[in-house]
Amino acid sequence: MTPPVVLTIAGSDSGGGAGIQADLKTFAALGAFGTSVITAVTAQNTLGVTAIHPIPIDIVAAQLDAVLADFPVAAVKVGMIGDPAVAALIAGRATQLPNLVIDPVLVATSGARLADTAAVAPLASYNCVLTPNRQEAAALTGSPVETAEEMVFAAESLAKRGARAVVVTGSETAADVLWHDGTVETLHGEPVPTANNHGSGCTFSSAIAVRLAAGDPVPVAVRAAKRYVSAALAGGRDWRLGAGPGPLHH
Ligand code: PLP
Repeated sequence: MTPPVVLTIAGSDSGGGAGIQADLKTFAALGAFGTSVITAVTAQNTLGVTAIHPIPIDIVAAQLDAVLADFPVAAVKVGMIGDPAVAALIAGRATQLPNLVIDPVLVATSGARLADTAAVAPLASYNCVLTPNRQEAAALTGSPVETAEEMVFAAESLAKRGARAVVVTGSETAADVLWHDGTVETLHGEPVPTANNHGSGCTFSSAIAVRLAAGDPVPVAVRAAKRYVSAALAGGRDWRLGAGPGPLHH
């Protein structure tokens, strides 16, 4: 049977742990056919990012148009945007981008800056499932997001900008906050004690996109993605691929 087609619009991670590489592995592991629009090439390994090359906007647009012209794309995940103009490009193609999931990537796991908050902020108002971690939610709202109450407040205030749903992730207790259809709920999980968490945000948003492509309602898709990330974290816990935070086992 032909698999559902999912598209990732994101940056390349030469270390294979995050970005496009994590997205395509997630799509394949969950039974989708992955296509990709590369917005930036990053040189990095488990220790950090050594160079970033944003792809010129006309080449980003050409990749997007090539994919959309030929594939029945059923869901789209957006990660690192590279060139700030990519946000406007996505807005311009909005009607052709079903089941949009946006991970507002600002900073790499290693702490390297991957995008400016001002360039990413417009994405928060798109009709999408928005998946900020606590740091990204704090940058987008301008308020600290540390406690469970602050996560709820951030999810509600980001939702007012127009998203279809908002999931704030990254608490120490693995309790994510999901806003959808006017309600807020906390999704509890088992924390996986591991330093190998590079690419967990990318993996989460990609898994949501696959489940939405398969027809799951948002809360079902988000719960399934959370289970997938936990299993991938547990699977890679004992891996020693580099000297820094390693990737997940897809
Ligand atoms: N996209 C790229 C290209 C990256 O290099 C990174 C992190 O290094 C991310 C996204 C975000 O990674 P994470 O899933 O760990 O939040």
